[in-house]
Amino acid sequence: MRSDSRKLVALLALLVAAAATLACQDRDVFAGARPPASGTMALEALLHDATLIDLTHPFDADTIFWPTEAGFALEPRAAGRTDGGYWYAANGFRSAEHGGTHLDAPYHFSASGRTADAIPLDRLLGEAVVVDVEKACRADRDHAITPEDFAAFEMAHGPIPQGAIVLLRTGFAAFWPDRARYLGTAARGEAAVGELHFPGLSPDAAALLIERGARAVGIDTASIDPGQSKDFASHQVLAAAQVPVFENVAALARLPARGAFVIALPMKIGKGSGGPLRIVAWLPATH
Ligand SMILES: [Zn+2]
Repeated sequence: MRSDSRKLVALLALLVAAAATLACQDRDVFAGARPPASGTMALEALLHDATLIDLTHPFDADTIFWPTEAGFALEPRAAGRTDGGYWYAANGFRSAEHGGTHLDAPYHFSASGRTADAIPLDRLLGEAVVVDVEKACRADRDHAITPEDFAAFEMAHGPIPQGAIVLLRTGFAAFWPDRARYLGTAARGEAAVGELHFPGLSPDAAALLIERGARAVGIDTASIDPGQSKDFASHQVLAAAQVPVFENVAALARLPARGAFVIALPMKIGKGSGGPLRIVAWLPATH
């Protein structure tokens, strides 16, 4: 691990400990981490001049789901002044697990994979590596990211460190929420699945990321496998290794290749195969 990476990891540990001091109601989550005496000051120091970047698309009527799924629905229950004189608003919502910015739990493609609620928290936060494959994906919207793409990244930026959250930037987030440009088709239903054209990860490249000890893998398209995949081989490879996958990730263009940290917290759906995800990046001022 490079020395500046060590420094960043230490800073992140401080951030987590400070957050624990401020807000943690569940100390088991931070077992072993002793919050500093002045957590508020430590947190303020860490956030000072740091950039927080939201890598999440909003959940609304435009949110892109798989063609066979109904989209996200907000169901208004109340919004108005009550008889008591105070404002009260509340909604319900309906959503498939896999739509918008979301988690694929390993269970999604492995019978022995962890479900959404059972993924260890340390799989969901860590140093980010952002692999830019936009050029190849602009040239071929069916591009399957290869081990050679990662070799090119490592030539330019050094080896992908063990335990990284590897984020694949195809550039397709720029098309959101235009379904035709993002997915390759605006059609819905089973017949539309064959018309999906967007880039993804080849299974050989997925295996390479497991060799590199990737903590999690994310992509700014609707699936970690390319749209034309019929066997979802990269899903299978990653799920078999208990690697969580983040799909429809936003705003990766705002991240450097190295130096950001990612915090990716999905809805904790009991026995879930995935779920809506809030994913953010933290970029220290020193970068
Ligand atoms: Zn999914």
